[in-house]
Amino acid sequence: MDKNNKPKRIKQLSRHLINQIAAGEVIERPASVVKELVENSIDAGADKIEVEVSNDCLDIRVSDNGCGIEPDDIELAFSKHATSKIETGEDLFNINSLGFRGEALASIISIAKVTCTSRTPANELGTKVECEESNVKKSECGCATGTTMEVKNLFYNTPARRRFLKEASVEARHIRTEFQRVALCNPGIAFTLCDGDAPLVQLPATNLRQRIVSAVGGREIAKNLLEVSVDTSMVRVEGFVGRPSAAKKTNREQFLFVNGRYFQSSYFRKAVLQAYDKLIPSDTQPSYFLYITIDPERIDVNVHPQKTEIRFDDEQALWQIFNAA
Ligand code: ADP
Ligand code: MG
Repeated sequence: MDKNNKPKRIKQLSRHLINQIAAGEVIERPASVVKELVENSIDAGADKIEVEVSNDCLDIRVSDNGCGIEPDDIELAFSKHATSKIETGEDLFNINSLGFRGEALASIISIAKVTCTSRTPANELGTKVECEESNVKKSECGCATGTTMEVKNLFYNTPARRRFLKEASVEARHIRTEFQRVALCNPGIAFTLCDGDAPLVQLPATNLRQRIVSAVGGREIAKNLLEVSVDTSMVRVEGFVGRPSAAKKTNREQFLFVNGRYFQSSYFRKAVLQAYDKLIPSDTQPSYFLYITIDPERIDVNVHPQKTEIRFDDEQALWQIFNAA
């Protein structure tokens, strides 16, 4: 409404502005970029993923040796609601990949400058695209098979969002947290995290126990992990829990995963804590790394754009299984 009480005219927002608004939901902070790009690399079948962070966490580069992107598809990859991971409404209830919404890349290019180089095994030459303000420039280039995404100057055109970022050390900690979650979930993939050129964390491909030991660290952890494995017709729960005697003062070693995805749930957390009831002092926290495998039709990961909230069909039955495990 303006001063004369006349309604203001309605205008369609530009594609760039729409993506920028939506980006706020998917890309909250630098760690969200790391999460989205690494998940794409995992979905691409990579077994080697390297993350490099610099410029106070505002420059992020993720390289993988996955399947690459077809030259003819590469521009589409950066447009909104474009995905290779689902096609039909039915697929939405049977999700086997980490991504499926087709919004991460479109969001990222609306708030950062992005260069992508990618090559599929069938192509001799790779493709390079440079994206700025939703404009995409494409050329041929030589590169290894796989994909490298280079994100520069994150939030350069959204100063308000940039102001809300914490100091670089806090953002770096969030990145470490995301990195640790995906690493814990994919022990068969070799991961590297670098601060500029300097490697911070190097995790060779290994089994789950070794991965937990190297990703979480601490001399104590190796001898205090007890294996858990339950298989019912509905669900499989595997992983490791800490010995009650090794309970911690913090809850930093509590991880739940479902179908290859980290998630948070106060309900399942309680189920685990109840199993430890009376075994550990009330002011301490058990360690657990639990991996649920369940028919994707029985869960809904489409609750929140960041996908850490997940709905289960049968929470109560799962509680019983957790407790028993
Ligand atoms: P989503 O992951 O939800 O499909 P994204 O915007 O993250 O959406 O990615 C869009 C598409 O780009 C993906 O569906 C995939 O086909 C392609 N893509 C993105 N990153 C990679 C990668 N590292 N390797 C191969 N393909 C990729
Ligand atoms: Mg994705």
